[in-house]
Amino acid sequence: MSEIHGKVVIITGASSGLGEATAHRLAKGGAKLVLGARREERLQSLRDAIVEQGGEAIYQVTDVTDRDQVEALASAAKQAYGRIDVLVNNAGLMPLSPLDQLKVDEWEQMVDVNIKGVLYGLAAVLPTMREQHAGHIINLSSVAGHVVFPASAVYSATKYAVKALSEGIRQEGGEEIRSTNISPGAVATELTTTISDPDTAQNVNELYEMAIDADAIARAIVYAIEQPADVDVNELIIRPTKQP
Ligand code: NDP
Repeated sequence: MSEIHGKVVIITGASSGLGEATAHRLAKGGAKLVLGARREERLQSLRDAIVEQGGEAIYQVTDVTDRDQVEALASAAKQAYGRIDVLVNNAGLMPLSPLDQLKVDEWEQMVDVNIKGVLYGLAAVLPTMREQHAGHIINLSSVAGHVVFPASAVYSATKYAVKALSEGIRQEGGEEIRSTNISPGAVATELTTTISDPDTAQNVNELYEMAIDADAIARAIVYAIEQPADVDVNELIIRPTKQP
């Protein structure tokens, strides 16, 4: 039996891309999934597909910018399954643009979802994980959380912040709480559709011709979770081989 079997895993942003691929992988490994995102039909069909294949999952419509909704997601996990073993803080968006365009609304959205959403997730599960004396928080940062690209200043700032949080969780989590920072390169998902600047969208779409499948990241998340309790996979960077 793998270390995944029976684990209760909350995934934010489960309605597409990396979150959805991770849900499928973990369900096959016997995890009990709690799926959060805003688009209910997507969550419903993902839940149905998992259950049809013999897996276990519930969903809860969740906007991660609303702390009460994130708390409700954690409560749903505890009500259904009695504990929370893993939180995958995955919800995020990437409306890249040059700073001079002053797309301040998009900057705020990124701060709200990519940073505050992660913080609300942490706040919603930390007390339960402390009570259990065990837990695992997996944060989705990015290669853009290690280097800054043209038009990525604000997105990179949010992903550097995520990386800092992962390190803080590692240090303060001690022996009880494992912390994994996942930094994908270009992965084929809906993420690039949030770019409103046409020039940036064109550049990014050209870069994303080399993008790898979301399952590559799902496999990395599974790897981190399935390690024995005394092994903490702190940082994984997964790029397409073609990515410079
Ligand atoms: P997708 O756009 O496919 O998925 C993003 C998910 O986030 C969706 O399920 C969306 O669901 C959810 N989401 C967005 N806003 C909110 C919100 N306010 N509340 C709750 N959920 C929200 O992109 P990816 O799967 O690629 O992205 C997943 C993570 O991976 C992100 O954090 C991203 O930054 C990171 N990443 C992705 C890379 C890539 O190349 N794809 C590279 C590096 C990092 P809904 O709209 O239903 O709410």
